[in-house]
Amino acid sequence: MRVLLLGGTTEGAALARALAGDARFQATLSLAGVTRSPRPQPLPTRIGGFGGVEGLVRYLHEAGIEALLDATHPFAAQMTRHAAAAAQATATPLLRLDRPAWCAQPGDDWREYADMPALVESLGETPKRIFLTIGRKELAPFRAAPWHHYVIRSVDPPPPELLPPDATLVTATGPFALDDELALLRDHRIDLLATKNSGGAATAAKLEAARRLGLPLRLLARPARPAGLAVVGDVAGALAWLHGLAERGA
Ligand code: NAP
Repeated sequence: MRVLLLGGTTEGAALARALAGDARFQATLSLAGVTRSPRPQPLPTRIGGFGGVEGLVRYLHEAGIEALLDATHPFAAQMTRHAAAAAQATATPLLRLDRPAWCAQPGDDWREYADMPALVESLGETPKRIFLTIGRKELAPFRAAPWHHYVIRSVDPPPPELLPPDATLVTATGPFALDDELALLRDHRIDLLATKNSGGAATAAKLEAARRLGLPLRLLARPARPAGLAVVGDVAGALAWLHGLAERGA
């Protein structure tokens, strides 16, 4: 069965490893090409956008794709929309893997916002030291609150024109350990964390570190999903779906 796996996530990498070792599937991994040095992958990999819904429809036809697995990041909303539209147009079976969102525990000072400008406004006018782990696409709104000091962690350095004026850059790739997160928050004398509700274990240590230090967390809520999208929450669920398709097709 020819499978197109939309990746760029921990789950996408795990699915790639599982499919590489399974003779029932001939899978191709697709990455957007946003990370400068992506990790080596065990599957044939194509890199770069498809050219919108039309481009993806063409690709699905030309490559004879029989199953489409969308394991992109919870905030890669456009790719998920395009996958849903292209799957519908080509009658290609589609499954979305959405890792569960993070949830506050009793005692946590967490607030969630529907968009980044609203989150930025909530930071207030008193200068704070803020740890930002949000990705380059969401950085620009923080330029509207230049009186805060931002410690920004990202895989690659963001373009300078997107940065707020008072910023310290930390380039690093997860997973991150709790002790390291505690040290980072203490060393930079962080008052508050701002992040996206990405979910998953690889970057969750910062939540526990914030909890232990009694620091507030401001989160960007997840984007809405296309109606009617079939969704599972983990890699095992996605593999079970593929195995079911392969059995029915056999
Ligand atoms: P996005 O805004 O939803 O997508 C923008 C465009 O990038 C899409 O329309 C598509 O271009 C292309 N694209 C996205 N994912 C692709 C993929 N896996 N393969 C081929 N083309 C892809 O996506 P994004 O938020 O920029 O994320 C880009 C990639 O980084 C995704 O693979 C995602 O899993 C990963 N990632 C994102 C985040 C995040 O916070 N957004 C965090 C970690 C990893 P065309 O329209 O030309 O097809």
